[in-house]
Amino acid sequence: MKKTHTQLKDKFSRYLRDIRISVTDRCNYRCPYCMPEEIYGEKYSFLNRKEILNFEEILRLLRIFVQFGVDKVRITGGEPLVRQDIDKLVAGIREINDELDIALTTNGYLLKQKALKLKQAGLSRITVSLDSIDDFTYTKMNGGKYGPAKTLSAIQELDKIGFKKTKINVVVQKGFNDQNFIDVAEYFRDTNKIVRFIEFMDVGNKNNWEKDKVIPASKIFEIINEKYPISPISNNYLGEVANRYKYDDGKGEIGIISSISQPFCQNCTRGRLSTDGKFITCLFASGGVDIKSPLRSGATDEELIEIIKSSWTSRIDKYSEDRLITSAKNKKKVEMYYIGG
Ligand code: SAM
Ligand code: SF4
Ligand code: SF4
Repeated sequence: MKKTHTQLKDKFSRYLRDIRISVTDRCNYRCPYCMPEEIYGEKYSFLNRKEILNFEEILRLLRIFVQFGVDKVRITGGEPLVRQDIDKLVAGIREINDELDIALTTNGYLLKQKALKLKQAGLSRITVSLDSIDDFTYTKMNGGKYGPAKTLSAIQELDKIGFKKTKINVVVQKGFNDQNFIDVAEYFRDTNKIVRFIEFMDVGNKNNWEKDKVIPASKIFEIINEKYPISPISNNYLGEVANRYKYDDGKGEIGIISSISQPFCQNCTRGRLSTDGKFITCLFASGGVDIKSPLRSGATDEELIEIIKSSWTSRIDKYSEDRLITSAKNKKKVEMYYIGG
Protein backbone atom coordinates (compact mmCIF):
# COMPACT_ATOMS: atom_id res chain seq x y z
CA MET A 1 0.00 0.00 0.00
CA LYS A 2 1.35 3.37 -0.99
CA LYS A 3 1.26 6.65 0.88
CA THR A 4 -1.94 8.29 -0.27
CA HIS A 5 -2.37 11.13 2.21
CA THR A 6 -0.22 14.12 2.97
CA GLN A 7 2.21 13.35 5.78
CA LEU A 8 1.00 14.51 9.16
CA LYS A 9 2.97 17.33 10.75
CA ASP A 10 2.61 18.33 14.40
CA LYS A 11 2.81 21.84 15.87
CA PHE A 12 6.63 21.68 15.83
CA SER A 13 6.78 20.39 12.23
CA ARG A 14 7.57 16.80 13.27
CA TYR A 15 6.17 14.15 10.94
CA LEU A 16 4.52 10.93 12.09
CA ARG A 17 6.90 8.23 10.79
CA ASP A 18 7.05 5.57 13.42
CA ILE A 19 4.33 3.61 15.26
CA ARG A 20 4.92 1.54 18.38
CA ILE A 21 2.20 -0.89 19.35
CA SER A 22 1.86 -2.37 22.80
CA VAL A 23 0.27 -5.73 22.00
CA THR A 24 -0.15 -6.75 25.64
CA ASP A 25 0.08 -5.17 29.09
CA ARG A 26 1.24 -8.49 30.54
CA CYS A 27 4.80 -9.62 31.08
CA ASN A 28 6.67 -12.64 32.41
CA TYR A 29 9.24 -10.31 34.07
CA ARG A 30 8.83 -7.75 36.81
CA CYS A 31 11.65 -5.29 36.16
CA PRO A 32 11.46 -2.80 39.06
CA TYR A 33 12.05 0.12 36.66
CA CYS A 34 8.96 -0.85 34.64
CA MET A 35 6.52 -3.18 36.45
CA PRO A 36 7.59 -3.48 40.09
CA GLU A 37 6.37 -6.72 41.69
CA GLU A 38 4.88 -4.92 44.70
CA ILE A 39 2.37 -3.23 42.38
CA TYR A 40 2.05 -5.80 39.61
CA GLY A 41 1.67 -8.80 41.90
CA GLU A 42 -0.79 -11.67 41.68
CA LYS A 43 -3.74 -9.47 42.58
CA TYR A 44 -3.09 -6.91 39.86
CA SER A 45 -5.85 -6.89 37.32
CA PHE A 46 -4.58 -6.69 33.76
CA LEU A 47 -6.75 -5.81 30.78
CA ASN A 48 -9.08 -8.58 29.73
CA ARG A 49 -9.22 -10.05 26.26
CA LYS A 50 -12.15 -7.91 25.12
CA GLU A 51 -10.45 -4.71 26.18
CA ILE A 52 -7.36 -5.21 24.06
CA LEU A 53 -7.20 -4.54 20.34
CA ASN A 54 -7.46 -7.69 18.27
CA PHE A 55 -5.17 -8.26 15.29
CA GLU A 56 -7.77 -7.15 12.70
CA GLU A 57 -8.22 -3.88 14.57
CA ILE A 58 -4.49 -3.27 14.82
CA LEU A 59 -4.07 -4.01 11.12
CA ARG A 60 -6.88 -1.70 10.10
CA LEU A 61 -5.28 1.16 12.02
CA LEU A 62 -1.83 0.35 10.66
CA ARG A 63 -3.13 0.48 7.09
CA ILE A 64 -4.26 4.02 7.83
CA PHE A 65 -0.97 4.99 9.48
CA VAL A 66 0.96 3.69 6.48
CA GLN A 67 -1.13 5.82 4.16
CA PHE A 68 0.18 8.78 6.14
CA GLY A 69 3.77 7.82 5.47
CA VAL A 70 4.57 5.69 8.54
CA ASP A 71 7.41 3.43 7.44
CA LYS A 72 8.43 1.86 10.72
CA VAL A 73 6.36 -0.29 13.10
CA ARG A 74 7.63 -1.58 16.43
CA ILE A 75 5.80 -4.36 18.24
CA THR A 76 6.31 -4.12 21.96
CA GLY A 77 4.49 -4.26 25.28
CA GLY A 78 4.53 -5.61 28.03
CA GLU A 79 6.24 -8.65 26.67
CA PRO A 80 5.04 -9.08 23.07
CA LEU A 81 6.01 -12.75 22.95
CA VAL A 82 3.45 -13.65 25.63
CA ARG A 83 0.70 -12.62 23.21
CA GLN A 84 -0.59 -15.70 21.40
CA ASP A 85 0.14 -16.03 17.69
CA ILE A 86 2.17 -12.86 17.53
CA ASP A 87 3.76 -14.13 14.31
CA LYS A 88 0.32 -13.90 12.68
CA LEU A 89 0.19 -10.22 13.50
CA VAL A 90 3.64 -9.81 11.96
CA ALA A 91 2.48 -11.61 8.82
CA GLY A 92 -0.56 -9.32 8.61
CA ILE A 93 1.62 -6.22 8.93
CA ARG A 94 4.01 -7.53 6.29
CA GLU A 95 1.06 -7.93 3.91
CA ILE A 96 0.32 -4.22 4.21
CA ASN A 97 3.63 -3.28 2.70
CA ASP A 98 6.75 -5.11 1.59
CA GLU A 99 9.06 -2.30 2.53
CA LEU A 100 7.85 -1.56 6.04
CA ASP A 101 10.53 -1.82 8.70
CA ILE A 102 8.89 -4.13 11.27
CA ALA A 103 10.79 -4.44 14.54
CA LEU A 104 10.02 -6.14 17.84
CA THR A 105 11.36 -5.48 21.33
CA THR A 106 11.48 -8.43 23.72
CA ASN A 107 13.10 -9.55 26.95
CA GLY A 108 14.11 -12.65 24.99
CA TYR A 109 12.89 -15.30 27.44
CA LEU A 110 10.51 -16.86 24.91
CA LEU A 111 12.47 -15.83 21.84
CA LYS A 112 14.29 -19.03 21.02
CA GLN A 113 11.10 -20.95 20.32
CA LYS A 114 9.47 -18.10 18.37
CA ALA A 115 12.29 -16.48 16.39
CA LEU A 116 12.06 -18.65 13.27
CA LYS A 117 8.29 -18.19 12.93
CA LEU A 118 8.72 -14.45 13.36
CA LYS A 119 11.34 -14.37 10.63
CA GLN A 120 9.15 -16.40 8.30
CA ALA A 121 6.26 -14.07 9.01
CA GLY A 122 8.32 -11.13 7.76
CA LEU A 123 9.74 -9.49 10.89
CA SER A 124 12.65 -7.24 9.88
CA ARG A 125 14.57 -6.79 13.14
CA ILE A 126 14.68 -7.69 16.81
CA THR A 127 15.78 -5.67 19.81
CA VAL A 128 16.50 -7.76 22.88
CA SER A 129 16.59 -6.22 26.34
CA LEU A 130 19.44 -7.60 28.43
CA ASP A 131 20.47 -5.46 31.37
CA SER A 132 23.36 -7.65 32.46
CA ILE A 133 25.14 -10.87 31.63
CA ASP A 134 25.83 -11.45 35.30
CA ASP A 135 23.34 -13.90 36.75
CA PHE A 136 22.74 -12.06 40.02
CA THR A 137 22.44 -8.60 38.46
CA TYR A 138 20.20 -9.76 35.62
CA THR A 139 17.84 -11.53 37.99
CA LYS A 140 17.70 -8.53 40.32
CA MET A 141 16.82 -6.30 37.37
CA ASN A 142 13.88 -8.43 36.27
CA GLY A 143 12.27 -8.76 39.67
CA GLY A 144 13.88 -12.06 40.67
CA LYS A 145 12.32 -14.05 37.85
CA TYR A 146 15.03 -15.64 35.70
CA GLY A 147 18.73 -15.63 34.90
CA PRO A 148 20.08 -14.49 31.50
CA ALA A 149 20.83 -17.94 30.02
CA LYS A 150 17.68 -18.36 27.92
CA THR A 151 17.87 -14.84 26.53
CA LEU A 152 21.57 -15.17 25.72
CA SER A 153 21.05 -18.44 23.94
CA ALA A 154 18.15 -16.99 21.92
CA ILE A 155 20.35 -14.08 20.85
CA GLN A 156 22.97 -16.53 19.58
CA GLU A 157 20.40 -18.18 17.30
CA LEU A 158 19.32 -14.95 15.62
CA ASP A 159 22.15 -14.82 13.07
CA LYS A 160 21.53 -18.36 11.93
CA ILE A 161 17.85 -17.60 11.43
CA GLY A 162 18.82 -14.61 9.31
CA PHE A 163 18.08 -11.65 11.55
CA LYS A 164 20.42 -8.75 10.92
CA LYS A 165 20.97 -5.49 12.81
CA THR A 166 19.98 -7.01 16.16
CA LYS A 167 20.17 -4.50 19.00
CA ILE A 168 20.64 -5.16 22.68
CA ASN A 169 19.02 -2.71 25.13
CA VAL A 170 20.60 -2.16 28.54
CA VAL A 171 18.89 0.12 31.06
CA VAL A 172 21.61 1.51 33.32
CA GLN A 173 20.45 2.07 36.87
CA LYS A 174 22.40 3.10 39.95
CA GLY A 175 22.53 0.39 42.58
CA PHE A 176 21.68 -2.31 40.03
CA ASN A 177 24.08 -2.62 37.08
CA ASP A 178 26.13 0.57 37.26
CA GLN A 179 29.19 -1.41 38.35
CA ASN A 180 29.08 -4.01 35.60
CA PHE A 181 27.10 -2.78 32.57
CA ILE A 182 30.36 -2.62 30.64
CA ASP A 183 30.36 -6.46 30.66
CA VAL A 184 27.47 -6.39 28.18
CA ALA A 185 29.47 -4.13 25.86
CA GLU A 186 32.41 -6.46 26.20
CA TYR A 187 30.33 -9.57 25.53
CA PHE A 188 28.98 -8.20 22.24
CA ARG A 189 32.15 -6.47 21.02
CA ASP A 190 33.27 -7.80 17.71
CA THR A 191 29.88 -9.36 17.01
CA ASN A 192 27.37 -7.71 14.71
CA LYS A 193 25.08 -6.78 17.64
CA ILE A 194 24.74 -3.16 18.68
CA VAL A 195 24.43 -2.63 22.42
CA ARG A 196 22.50 0.47 23.42
CA PHE A 197 22.75 1.83 26.94
CA ILE A 198 19.62 3.65 28.12
CA GLU A 199 19.38 6.16 30.94
CA PHE A 200 16.86 5.08 33.58
CA MET A 201 13.74 7.07 32.69
CA ASP A 202 10.86 8.49 34.69
CA VAL A 203 8.23 6.69 32.64
CA GLY A 204 4.89 6.24 34.40
CA ASN A 205 4.43 6.94 38.10
CA LYS A 206 5.17 3.57 39.64
CA ASN A 207 8.86 2.83 39.19
CA ASN A 208 10.25 4.93 42.08
CA TRP A 209 12.28 7.03 39.70
CA GLU A 210 14.70 9.51 41.29
CA LYS A 211 17.14 11.68 39.42
CA ASP A 212 20.06 10.40 41.47
CA LYS A 213 19.36 6.83 40.32
CA VAL A 214 20.19 7.90 36.76
CA ILE A 215 23.67 7.25 35.42
CA PRO A 216 23.97 10.02 32.83
CA ALA A 217 25.03 9.32 29.26
CA SER A 218 28.28 11.24 29.86
CA LYS A 219 29.23 8.82 32.66
CA ILE A 220 28.27 5.78 30.57
CA PHE A 221 30.48 7.14 27.79
CA GLU A 222 33.36 7.78 30.18
CA ILE A 223 33.28 4.28 31.68
CA ILE A 224 33.24 2.54 28.29
CA ASN A 225 35.70 4.93 26.67
CA GLU A 226 38.23 4.39 29.44
CA LYS A 227 38.47 0.68 28.73
CA TYR A 228 37.58 0.59 25.04
CA PRO A 229 38.12 3.97 23.36
CA ILE A 230 35.10 5.03 21.30
CA SER A 231 34.38 7.93 18.95
CA PRO A 232 31.07 9.47 17.91
CA ILE A 233 29.68 8.64 14.49
CA SER A 234 26.81 10.31 12.69
CA ASN A 235 23.22 9.20 13.05
CA ASN A 236 21.68 6.83 10.53
CA TYR A 237 18.63 9.07 10.16
CA LEU A 238 17.05 12.17 11.65
CA GLY A 239 15.22 11.29 14.84
CA GLU A 240 17.37 8.27 15.76
CA VAL A 241 17.14 8.01 19.54
CA ALA A 242 20.62 6.69 20.27
CA ASN A 243 23.86 8.61 19.93
CA ARG A 244 26.19 6.26 18.06
CA TYR A 245 29.84 5.52 18.83
CA LYS A 246 32.31 3.21 17.12
CA TYR A 247 35.10 1.38 18.85
CA ASP A 248 38.39 2.92 17.74
CA ASP A 249 39.85 -0.55 17.22
CA GLY A 250 37.15 -1.38 14.67
CA LYS A 251 35.29 -3.88 16.83
CA GLY A 252 31.80 -2.57 16.17
CA GLU A 253 29.60 0.14 17.60
CA ILE A 254 27.45 0.99 20.63
CA GLY A 255 24.68 3.52 21.27
CA ILE A 256 23.75 5.65 24.26
CA ILE A 257 20.18 6.86 24.75
CA SER A 258 20.11 10.00 26.82
CA SER A 259 16.44 10.79 27.29
CA ILE A 260 17.14 12.40 30.66
CA SER A 261 20.42 14.28 30.23
CA GLN A 262 20.17 15.25 26.54
CA PRO A 263 16.58 14.99 25.37
CA PHE A 264 15.80 14.47 21.71
CA CYS A 265 12.20 15.68 21.42
CA GLN A 266 13.03 18.00 18.53
CA ASN A 267 13.07 15.18 16.03
CA CYS A 268 10.57 12.83 17.65
CA THR A 269 8.41 11.18 15.00
CA ARG A 270 6.98 8.42 17.20
CA GLY A 271 3.32 7.75 17.85
CA ARG A 272 2.08 4.94 20.08
CA LEU A 273 -0.90 2.64 20.07
CA SER A 274 -1.75 1.40 23.56
CA THR A 275 -2.88 -2.14 24.31
CA ASP A 276 -6.48 -0.95 24.61
CA GLY A 277 -6.52 1.18 21.51
CA LYS A 278 -5.52 4.69 22.49
CA PHE A 279 -3.37 6.78 20.18
CA ILE A 280 -0.69 8.39 22.32
CA THR A 281 1.68 11.03 21.04
CA CYS A 282 4.43 10.94 23.71
CA LEU A 283 6.02 8.30 25.92
CA PHE A 284 5.37 10.58 28.89
CA ALA A 285 1.79 11.58 28.04
CA SER A 286 -0.93 11.38 30.65
CA GLY A 287 -3.37 9.81 28.21
CA GLY A 288 -4.33 9.48 24.60
CA VAL A 289 -7.22 9.60 22.21
CA ASP A 290 -9.55 6.61 22.20
CA ILE A 291 -9.68 5.01 18.75
CA LYS A 292 -11.04 1.65 19.86
CA SER A 293 -14.54 2.90 20.67
CA PRO A 294 -15.17 4.45 17.26
CA LEU A 295 -13.49 1.47 15.63
CA ARG A 296 -15.91 -0.87 17.38
CA SER A 297 -18.97 1.24 16.77
CA GLY A 298 -18.66 1.19 13.01
CA ALA A 299 -16.55 4.27 12.22
CA THR A 300 -15.51 4.63 8.60
CA ASP A 301 -11.85 4.92 7.62
CA GLU A 302 -12.44 8.63 7.00
CA GLU A 303 -13.66 9.08 10.57
CA LEU A 304 -10.67 7.20 11.98
CA ILE A 305 -8.37 9.26 9.79
CA GLU A 306 -9.87 12.45 11.23
CA ILE A 307 -9.20 11.28 14.81
CA ILE A 308 -5.57 10.46 14.06
CA LYS A 309 -5.08 13.61 12.05
CA SER A 310 -6.47 15.96 14.67
CA SER A 311 -4.45 14.29 17.42
CA TRP A 312 -1.11 14.45 15.59
CA THR A 313 -1.56 17.90 14.05
CA SER A 314 -2.28 19.40 17.50
CA ARG A 315 0.69 17.61 19.12
CA ILE A 316 2.93 19.82 21.26
CA ASP A 317 4.66 17.10 23.33
CA LYS A 318 8.25 17.62 24.36
CA TYR A 319 8.21 16.20 27.85
CA SER A 320 11.90 15.34 28.10
CA GLU A 321 12.92 18.87 27.19
CA ASP A 322 10.41 20.37 29.62
CA ARG A 323 11.70 18.10 32.37
CA LEU A 324 14.98 20.01 32.30
CA ILE A 325 13.14 23.25 33.04
CA THR A 326 10.33 22.30 35.39
CA SER A 327 9.98 19.45 37.82
CA ALA A 328 7.31 17.28 36.25
CA LYS A 329 7.68 14.60 38.89
CA ASN A 330 4.08 14.71 39.99
CA LYS A 331 2.61 14.73 36.51
CA LYS A 332 0.30 11.78 35.90
CA LYS A 333 1.79 9.61 33.13
CA VAL A 334 0.78 6.44 31.38
CA GLU A 335 2.86 3.37 32.22
CA MET A 336 5.44 2.15 29.70
CA TYR A 337 4.32 -1.47 29.39
CA TYR A 338 0.88 -0.25 28.35
CA ILE A 339 1.99 2.14 25.64
CA GLY A 340 5.07 0.30 24.48
CA GLY A 341 8.67 1.24 25.20
N1 SAM B 1 9.20 -6.49 27.44
C1 SAM B 1 9.96 -6.04 26.36
C2 SAM B 1 11.38 -5.73 26.77
O1 SAM B 1 11.63 -5.58 27.96
O2 SAM B 1 12.20 -5.62 25.86
C3 SAM B 1 9.35 -4.86 25.61
C4 SAM B 1 8.72 -3.77 26.42
S1 SAM B 1 9.81 -2.80 27.40
C5 SAM B 1 8.70 -1.65 28.14
C6 SAM B 1 10.67 -1.88 26.16
C7 SAM B 1 11.99 -1.29 26.57
O3 SAM B 1 11.77 -0.29 27.53
C8 SAM B 1 12.96 -2.27 27.18
O4 SAM B 1 14.20 -2.22 26.53
C9 SAM B 1 13.10 -1.79 28.61
O5 SAM B 1 14.35 -2.06 29.15
C10 SAM B 1 12.83 -0.31 28.46
N2 SAM B 1 12.41 0.33 29.70
C11 SAM B 1 11.37 -0.01 30.49
N3 SAM B 1 11.28 0.81 31.55
C12 SAM B 1 12.30 1.71 31.43
C13 SAM B 1 12.75 2.81 32.20
N4 SAM B 1 12.14 3.16 33.32
N5 SAM B 1 13.81 3.51 31.77
C14 SAM B 1 14.44 3.17 30.61
N6 SAM B 1 14.05 2.15 29.83
C15 SAM B 1 13.01 1.41 30.24
FE1 SF4 C 1 8.49 -6.67 31.19
FE2 SF4 C 1 9.94 -5.39 29.44
FE3 SF4 C 1 8.78 -4.06 31.45
FE4 SF4 C 1 10.78 -5.70 31.98
S1 SF4 C 1 10.89 -3.84 30.73
S2 SF4 C 1 8.82 -5.60 33.10
S3 SF4 C 1 10.51 -7.26 30.48
S4 SF4 C 1 7.74 -5.07 29.82
FE1 SF4 D 1 9.20 12.04 21.92
FE2 SF4 D 1 7.86 12.57 24.15
FE3 SF4 D 1 10.18 11.24 24.25
FE4 SF4 D 1 10.15 13.86 23.66
S1 SF4 D 1 9.55 12.94 25.58
S2 SF4 D 1 11.33 12.24 22.61
S3 SF4 D 1 8.24 14.00 22.48
S4 SF4 D 1 8.28 10.53 23.28
